[in-house]
Amino acid sequence: KLTGHTERDIPFTKPDSLTRVFAITSGKGGVGKSSVTANLAAAMAKQGLKVGVVDADIYGFSIPRMLGVDDPAQQIDSMIIPPVAHDVKVMSIGMFVPDGTPVVWRGPMLHRALRQFLADVYWGDLDALLLDLPPGTGDVAISIAQLLPNAEIVVVTTPQVAAAEVAERAGSIATQTKQKVVGVIENMSYLQQEDGSKLELFGSGGGQQVSDRLSEMLEYKVPLLAQIPIDMSLREGSDGGNPVVLQGGEAAMQLEAVAAALTK
Ligand code: ADP
Repeated sequence: KLTGHTERDIPFTKPDSLTRVFAITSGKGGVGKSSVTANLAAAMAKQGLKVGVVDADIYGFSIPRMLGVDDPAQQIDSMIIPPVAHDVKVMSIGMFVPDGTPVVWRGPMLHRALRQFLADVYWGDLDALLLDLPPGTGDVAISIAQLLPNAEIVVVTTPQVAAAEVAERAGSIATQTKQKVVGVIENMSYLQQEDGSKLELFGSGGGQQVSDRLSEMLEYKVPLLAQIPIDMSLREGSDGGNPVVLQGGEAAMQLEAVAAALTK
C-alpha cells in the first residue's frame, strides 16, 4: 500500500548525492518516450551502472510491461523494495493498483505518490535514476521540478513538425524550473528499406527543430542526441518486457550510444 509517507528526505537531492537524475519528457503521447526510457535504463545497466527507473507517468504507466516486471513491490516497515528487471530497479504505480484499475488522482495525490517513490524506496546507491514523465507540462512535471530540481531533462519527439512544436513546449518549462535540458532524441525517424534508402514515414526535421529552438530559448546548446529508426523489434521488445538494447540492431546501437553519452 502507498501510505503517503512524506517525512524522509529525497536522497537524490542531497549535496553529496552522486546520482545523475534524468527526466524523460515529450510533448505528446505515443512518440516513444517510455520505450526510450526503458531502453536507456537497460543500456546503462548493461554498461555496468547502477540504475533505477521511476515511472512518473502515473495515469499512463507502461514501464513495468516494457521492462518485464510482474512482481508487486514488497515492503519492509514503511520502506518499499523495488522489483528488479534487467538489472534495473523499477518503481511504478502499476505495482500498487490491481490490473485494469484506472488511476484517478488529483495533483496533491500525484505529488505524494511521486515523493514516496523517491524517498521511501530502497534505491541504494544509484549511478543514474531515470524518470518516465507523462507527456506535456502538467502536474507531474511541476512536482518533479520541485522534488528534483537537479533533474536533467531529455526531450523525445518524432520528426513531425506538429509533434516538434509541442515537444518544444515540454522542454521550455525548463526556462521556469531552471532544470537543465541535456538533449533531444528524435524517435521513429525513418524506416530502413531493403534497397538501402530510408523512408521518412513521419516527415523529417522535428528533432533538429526542437534542438535549435530550445538552444535559442535556453541560451545553451541542447544537442540532438540521436535519430532512432522505426524498428519492429523495438516495439516487440517493449511489448514483451525485453528491451531492444539487449537484442541489437540500429535502434539498439543508437540507444546505447545515447546512454553512454548521457552518463559519461
Ligand atoms: P510514449 O511513452 O511516448 O507514449 P511509447 O514508448 O509507449 O510512447 O511508444 C508507443 C508505441 O510505439 C509502443 O507500442 C512502442 O513499442 C512503439 N514504438 C516506440 N518507438 C518505436 C520505434 N522506434 N520503432 C517501432 N515502434 C516504436
